[in-house]
Amino acid sequence: MEYRYLGKTGLQLSVLSFGSWVTFHKQIDDNHADELMSFAYDNGVNFFDNAEVYALGESEKMMGRILKRKSWDRTSVVLSSKVYFGSRGKENKPNQTGLSRKHIMEACRESLQRLQVDYLDLFFCHRPDPNTPIGEIVWTMHNLIQHGKILYWGTSMWSAEEIMSAHKFAKEHNLIGPVVEQPEYNVFERTKVEQEYAPLYNDPGLGTTVWSPLAAGLLTGKYLNGIPEGSRLAMPGFEWLKERWVQEEKVRKVGALNDLAKQLNVSLPTMALAWCIKNPNVTTAILGATKREQLEENFKALEVVKVLNDEEMGKIEEILK
Ligand code: NDP
Repeated sequence: MEYRYLGKTGLQLSVLSFGSWVTFHKQIDDNHADELMSFAYDNGVNFFDNAEVYALGESEKMMGRILKRKSWDRTSVVLSSKVYFGSRGKENKPNQTGLSRKHIMEACRESLQRLQVDYLDLFFCHRPDPNTPIGEIVWTMHNLIQHGKILYWGTSMWSAEEIMSAHKFAKEHNLIGPVVEQPEYNVFERTKVEQEYAPLYNDPGLGTTVWSPLAAGLLTGKYLNGIPEGSRLAMPGFEWLKERWVQEEKVRKVGALNDLAKQLNVSLPTMALAWCIKNPNVTTAILGATKREQLEENFKALEVVKVLNDEEMGKIEEILK
């Protein structure tokens, strides 16, 4: 496993990490989650990603139970959660979502309870909240760090301008600013990581924990001939995700990428993941998985990245045009 520094911090994350969105509680049970987390941990994964809204808190509870069961040294893992969407779904009342001081503080306390840990290593603002002053957000995150409840804080799907406004406020008031952004990044979704955040990698020094590196599974090739039963895009309630990804042009490009992968003697998911982590501004690509075999396959990306040279990257670029 390769470990990369998170932006300009001293924290190192495994370049492949593991997240629980959709899968925990909705697709897999405790034993299954145990198998996947153990496989990841035994293969060097040190970062596990979660959020208050995943399965409305049940995902954190499941991860908490597994962590308890495994008794891994707490200092060997990096745990995250995210605040914004709330954990009560349709029952969310005012102040149970967003980034007010009240919700950030209460969400953090509830995430710690569900995960059964004393602190989070990373705490993300899951989306920007235009209704809360940036100073209130920065002060609250800074206070959580001072209280030892979180170690670092970051953003997810914020614009570069929003991230910089947090930095500016933090700098002016001698507070700790955000050090990491969690954006989507895969061959179809590149603008934020490759262009918008480009000036931020050096100064202030942004790390990235990128999500959906396989475009929810599209980049495994499993949707080339329809929607297989039991797959994420066949799940009731995820029709929006199917509409987003299973589009003629995208599927055609995935077919061409699949042909290229075959020529290179690698699988499509390993090529797609290797493409992702070849970008040095990606600190870690967060994997999702419902089966151990998926993780076994996807980990081979660590080898594929070593052989994906400029010529092959050029061929991928040609297909994506
Ligand atoms: P991916 O794009 O990698 O999709 C993962 C899914 O693809 C798996 O659950 C599985 O679904 C399928 N899959 C993976 N590998 C294979 C394989 N080798 N063969 C066949 N199918 C495979 O990542 P996610 O969309 O799950 O995102 C990863 C993590 O990122 C999340 O868990 C979460 O922690 C984070 N995230 C953060 C967001 C944010 O807003 N900050 C938003 C979304 C995710 P199946 O078997 O069901 O088909």
